[in-house]
Amino acid sequence: MVKRNPHMSKLSGSYLFPEVKKRARALLEKTPEAKLISLSIGDTTEQLPPFVTQSLVQKAIAMGTASGYEGYGAEQGLDSLRKSISETYYKGLVAPEEVFISDGAKCDIARLQMLFGSDVITAVQDPAYPVYVDTSVIMGQTGSHTNSYYDRLVYLPCTAENNFFPVLDENTPPFDLLYFCNPNNPTGAVCTKQQLQKLVDFVKERGAFLIYDAAYSVYIQDPALPRTIFEIPGAKDVAIEINSFSKIIGFTGIRLSWTVIPKDLRFEEGPSVITDWNRIMTTCFNGASIIAQHGGLGALTPEGLKEIDTLVQFYLGNAKLLKDHFTQSGYEVFGGTHAPYLFVKTPHQSSWEAFDHFLYKYNIVTTPGSGFGPGGEGYLRLSAFGKRATIEEALSRLN
Ligand code: PLP
Repeated sequence: MVKRNPHMSKLSGSYLFPEVKKRARALLEKTPEAKLISLSIGDTTEQLPPFVTQSLVQKAIAMGTASGYEGYGAEQGLDSLRKSISETYYKGLVAPEEVFISDGAKCDIARLQMLFGSDVITAVQDPAYPVYVDTSVIMGQTGSHTNSYYDRLVYLPCTAENNFFPVLDENTPPFDLLYFCNPNNPTGAVCTKQQLQKLVDFVKERGAFLIYDAAYSVYIQDPALPRTIFEIPGAKDVAIEINSFSKIIGFTGIRLSWTVIPKDLRFEEGPSVITDWNRIMTTCFNGASIIAQHGGLGALTPEGLKEIDTLVQFYLGNAKLLKDHFTQSGYEVFGGTHAPYLFVKTPHQSSWEAFDHFLYKYNIVTTPGSGFGPGGEGYLRLSAFGKRATIEEALSRLN
């Protein structure tokens, strides 16, 4: 008989969203006529805009011609797309060779586990996007004690009391990797330049690495707030940045992302991280879809950038409607200004109690903050990804 990966049994009960779906299904079994509205999963809802669609279509058509057909591409991605990301998104702060194109930020987070192995100690913001913790647990960062979920995982509380930014001082437990998401999923918090400088300095002082997830960076509206960690002096000595076209231009179904590994980033023993990452990508990945990459190229042209802005403003418009409503109804609401997520405090109710309350009373599906870690208890996450009519219908039910 084949033995199961022993770490699988250390994962918490079920991944958050299946549980959310299970409860929504249970309601529908009891009241099949209920019309559920989802403010839950962070999936884009608006159609692809015309210029980016054309970029995809043109390449798809070219693939059906003798001269335009291409097979496997470079595992690292099209040179043209790496260059375009370097120039358009990073304004030259990172070199094209430091950009690795991929099929999703989630997949890259999982591949990063291969890069570091199971012997590292991982720190996460609490609450956090569950993939950082779950991939770390699957990899075995749970120590040698059976059933010990937290052994090699350090939770850094990020709550309203500390403005959702962790206290980083001599009492912070040791760690090798710190996963940090800005703008944050789930809290919607966004960091100032000073906060990010503190983060980079602290990680450097600890001799650790920062895995910086910037999947929502285009939602940052204030030019004084950094959109990439590489705007921060010293970041190239400690940081890896993950980003994605998913929430930028609605590519959640198309699949396209990238990871930046600075050339000078080195392991304690001396070898460069980029060499190992290149080895992992060339071993485990055969390159992102050529068609998707052409869509990404289109998105970074002046026409594409305008389309990105229109989409971002649309979802932020949804966020504002939700934020105004919940604030006026007396809730304490965080996020939703530079991020497509709102974190709503649910006084006198646990997250799951509040989830059930909104589900049963208004037939509105939300996401319990506690599903993102113990620090999310007492909050609900609302997603601003939705059709405008859906958001308006949700608000009219709540009135
Ligand atoms: N990182 C964060 C913080 C996310 O919220 C998500 C998706 O919701 C991802 C990464 C995954 O992005 P992708 O669609 O590129 O896999």
